[in-house]
Amino acid sequence: MTSRGAGNTLAARLRDLSGRLSRRYGRALRSPHRTEPLWNLVLTILSQNTTDANRDRAFAALAARFPTFPLLAAASPEDVEDAIRAGGLARAKARAILSALSRIHRERGEYSLDFLSGMPLREAREYLVSFPGVGVKTANVVLLFSFGKEAFPVDTHILRVTKRLGLVPPAADLSRAALLLEPHVPPGEPMPFHMNLIRLGREICRPREPLCPGCPLLAVCPEGARRTGSRGVVPR
Ligand code: SF4
Repeated sequence: MTSRGAGNTLAARLRDLSGRLSRRYGRALRSPHRTEPLWNLVLTILSQNTTDANRDRAFAALAARFPTFPLLAAASPEDVEDAIRAGGLARAKARAILSALSRIHRERGEYSLDFLSGMPLREAREYLVSFPGVGVKTANVVLLFSFGKEAFPVDTHILRVTKRLGLVPPAADLSRAALLLEPHVPPGEPMPFHMNLIRLGREICRPREPLCPGCPLLAVCPEGARRTGSRGVVPR
């Protein structure tokens, strides 16, 4: 896999796309998530297969009922499941959260992921994905938003948009797309590019009937050209 850097065609294309999105949406450089790493891990486990609104409801209920990690870790799976029911898949998520807390405390002697800050990105990700219920997307959210590492989380919006842009193969899943794109996302761009792609996916590049004529990426998007009949695609 090619490393980050100038002269890399995909890196140049990603820089161009991120620039176009930043000109439309601005550059978000602050986390929309809780930044305490272990709470962020809990939040991202809750985010799987649900909407942001339901994730936030489940998280708020969980944090209100178990405001500290020792209290949460001592709770029964049934009580945690009950607290997070609004987020869906409550049984599996409750067990994933309790299993992660138990293992972290057993291995580190405290409820903290701060030790990951000094680890290289790949090693830190390997540690996080070794927990049941934690995939590459969840791990990358924690590494980007809590530690400021150059991880590139790919969610369903980003996967759809990057497929339409021809950046990842049609059969790629979230993990494969993230690992394929991440080495080519220019330094400093993972957070604004991630957040702007999600916004584009929600507002314009929607699952059905994307609003290509008003898209800031139309000039460089093969799918947009096909849908609009335009010939504005500029290979980068
Ligand atoms: Fe999506 Fe259309 Fe924009 Fe391409 S031009 S990214 S298909 S909305």
